[in-house]
Amino acid sequence: MNDASDIQEADVLVVGGGLHGTSSAFHMTKRGVKVIVLEADYVARHSSGVNAGGVRTLGRPVPEIPLALMSREIWHSMTDLIGEDGGFVASGQLKIAETDDELDACRQRVALLESHGFTHEKVIDRETVLELEPALARHVTGGIWAERDGYALPFKTTTAFRLAAQKLGARFLEGTPVRRIEQRGTRWFAYTPRGTFSAEKLLVTAGAWSGELAKQAGEAVPVHPEGLMLMVTHRVAPFCRATLGATGRPLSFKQFDNGTVVIGGKLIGIADLANRHGEVDFVRLVKSARTVTDLFPHLKHLGVNRAWAGVEAFTEDELPVISASRTASNLYYSFGYCGSGFQLGPGCGKLVSELMLDGAPSISLDAFAIDRFGRDAASAQADATQLITH
Ligand SMILES: Cc1cc2nc3c(=O)[nH]c(=O)nc-3n(C[C@H](O)[C@H](O)[C@H](O)COP(=O)(O)OP(=O)(O)OC[C@H]3O[C@@H](n4cnc5c(N)ncnc54)[C@H](O)[C@@H]3O)c2cc1C
Repeated sequence: MNDASDIQEADVLVVGGGLHGTSSAFHMTKRGVKVIVLEADYVARHSSGVNAGGVRTLGRPVPEIPLALMSREIWHSMTDLIGEDGGFVASGQLKIAETDDELDACRQRVALLESHGFTHEKVIDRETVLELEPALARHVTGGIWAERDGYALPFKTTTAFRLAAQKLGARFLEGTPVRRIEQRGTRWFAYTPRGTFSAEKLLVTAGAWSGELAKQAGEAVPVHPEGLMLMVTHRVAPFCRATLGATGRPLSFKQFDNGTVVIGGKLIGIADLANRHGEVDFVRLVKSARTVTDLFPHLKHLGVNRAWAGVEAFTEDELPVISASRTASNLYYSFGYCGSGFQLGPGCGKLVSELMLDGAPSISLDAFAIDRFGRDAASAQADATQLITH
């Protein structure tokens, strides 16, 4: 055990320097709280720095929509908040239907959202899809359009939140893996090879590695890692402005201003949690490349420049855990974003700061409680309904 004088102290310790850690740190520091962020590798090394950059409210599970809409507004005014826009481009996001049945599924989805009062997704017909994206294959039948969605640059965004937090006084320690957390009396202790850190409150934003820390607090969470893959093509003349997804098959697709095309869409590669990296499975990438050439036949001979995989946290019900601990006081969690936590980062950081500093977030987080996995379906459904009408 360390001598008390060796222990570095703060009001809040944040374990993990991805977008959720940096954004939460920023929002808390902005309110005068002394924050130390402990990062095992370097800030934005994992999912938050290597993702597809999709800023998407489109297609989200209903309980996440209020969070995504709130976060969307932050994306549109990011420069006012942190002095930097993270490379955000409000390109709109389009989910393409390729058959009449898929278009019917789009109509049903939008009707469901409207029954809950959400109007951010609109069904559009084939002509409108082709007007928006004239290079698309002619077999498309329509789609869903979310006009205020877009994309941003992941590493730039996460670094911008880190720098904004740092400017306000937050400390970031990289190469500082937290091996163990422990509450003694009214304080939390985080033990690392670079010393011991202590604070009244502790936040776990350790992505796919969060389950181990929750377990140390006596909370078993069904969270598992997946290696999500992306590929980037050579440059090609501009042909597509919106960020695209498909209805009947996995796809996430966008062309950057420099002409390269980023292709993904929950493509599962290999996650190596122990060695802290993801690996590409090239056979699976081929399937995704085929979807792209079906939709944009003129890309048939376009070369792929590079491909990579990032380690992402998935939960059993595909919703994140954003919650106070149910077993310990002053312990909080924000992880398990299931492949779509980049868009939520700016907003969830704010909600987490409200949860930790005020005891009550401005949007209910009940659907994301850490103890929901043991609960029966009826009570989880009741939470979701309450959230929608909040
Ligand atoms: C290939 C890919 C494409 C994606 N595309 C999109 C997209 O288009 N749109 C979207 O919204 N989302 C997307 N996502 C998902 C999104 O990137 C993640 O949901 C989000 O970045 C999660 O952020 P995080 O801060 O929770 O986790 P992370 O970014 O994983 O950060 C967690 C950090 O905690 C650190 N850590 C772990 N354990 C410890 C420890 N014991 N001590 C100290 N530090 C620790 C890690 O080193 C890591 O840096 C994608 C993800 C991937 C991998």
